[in-house]
Amino acid sequence: MEVVDIIRAKRDGATLTRRQIEWFITNYTEGVVADEQASALLMAIVWRGMAPAELATWTAAMIASGERLDLSSITAPTADKHSTGGVGDKVSLILAPLVAACGVVDPMLSGRGLGHTGGTLDKLEAIPGYRVDLEPDEFLRILKDVGCVICSAGPGLAPADRKLYALRDVTGTVESIPLIASSIMSKKIAEGTGALVLDVKVGTGAFLPDLRTARRLAETMVELGAGHGVKTSALITRMETPLGRSAGNALEVIESIQALEGNGPPDLMEVTTALAREMLALTGVGADVQKKIDDGSALGKWKELVTAQGGDPEARLPEAPERRTFGAPSRGWITRLDARAVGVAAWRLGAGRARKEDPVSATAGIVCLKKQGDAVEEGEPLLELHADDPRRFDSALEALGSAVQVGREAPAVEPMVIERIGP
Ligand code: URA
Repeated sequence: MEVVDIIRAKRDGATLTRRQIEWFITNYTEGVVADEQASALLMAIVWRGMAPAELATWTAAMIASGERLDLSSITAPTADKHSTGGVGDKVSLILAPLVAACGVVDPMLSGRGLGHTGGTLDKLEAIPGYRVDLEPDEFLRILKDVGCVICSAGPGLAPADRKLYALRDVTGTVESIPLIASSIMSKKIAEGTGALVLDVKVGTGAFLPDLRTARRLAETMVELGAGHGVKTSALITRMETPLGRSAGNALEVIESIQALEGNGPPDLMEVTTALAREMLALTGVGADVQKKIDDGSALGKWKELVTAQGGDPEARLPEAPERRTFGAPSRGWITRLDARAVGVAAWRLGAGRARKEDPVSATAGIVCLKKQGDAVEEGEPLLELHADDPRRFDSALEALGSAVQVGREAPAVEPMVIERIGP
């Protein structure tokens, strides 16, 4: 087989055969196919797309490039959630212990942040002692004992995606429905979960700006999951404004604990409980999600989870030494607090990274003292910026330049869940 023939075929709009796809994925993962050849094929896929059966074969080949976790020793139903990423999206930290308290086992393999959206592992590492790298036997033991795990995916899980994603990042080939769907679903299917709920975010702070594209991505992923025997559904949720009141690693852990204590902000709780109910519905587990928060059992699971992964759930979380506030430009109601601008500002403060290998600050970030729909006086503090180094404030404040709009009337409150896609 010649890789150039595969590239030419896709360039000219053909559907790749199973043999071509399996050959390409195996040989690229093993380093036989060069990055420049893989880049050419990826760009051809961006332009030409993939037929549903072709995409299913591509995804299956990516899964087969590594191991598939065996959760057969877990007797309770398993379910996980994946979010396409947003600003202030700390849902995973609340959701995993919440569904575990309901009787659904969640083997959550998470990632780190890149760009303006944060990563679950970076947030958890703000907890003193928390270990995100677990050995396979430890992973299974915690799943059985606690009912949830939040850790990193080992290098053996979908290694083809690891290479392809790094290449896509530097070749302008991230923005493709089949490539995004296969990348996300290969990792989630390899994780071994029985059910999966996708949180597909749409809006300025999300990586998909419009509903039509979000819907197509959600439908594609739901179909791929079903094709691999994973009960999959998707919620399309709003990401116009930061989710909850904070964006930043330790700040989001603090907010998650408050949410588990029953004091979460309405938007964050609306998304989290909707996803939890969806996970319960897919697994056929009947439990009252709100009651598990109100009676403290979800918080109890959080403490068990943190302890099992080496952290101290009672430890005081680190705080940034430097603070600044950003005030309201005029009197009225906040009609817009732009998620992307807040995400970029938090990133400039040190909460995120530009390259995979960069360190992140545990304490940097932004607290929204006011949110969309709140009444404000001119100059009243709206955002509190946290940083380790005061030299970071100027560029963060610059990112917030036109993030806030204040109007004469309170804006309508929109539901956070826009649409459900699934069986
Ligand atoms: N997240 C992934 O894991 N893969 C993509 O392609 C995009 C977002």
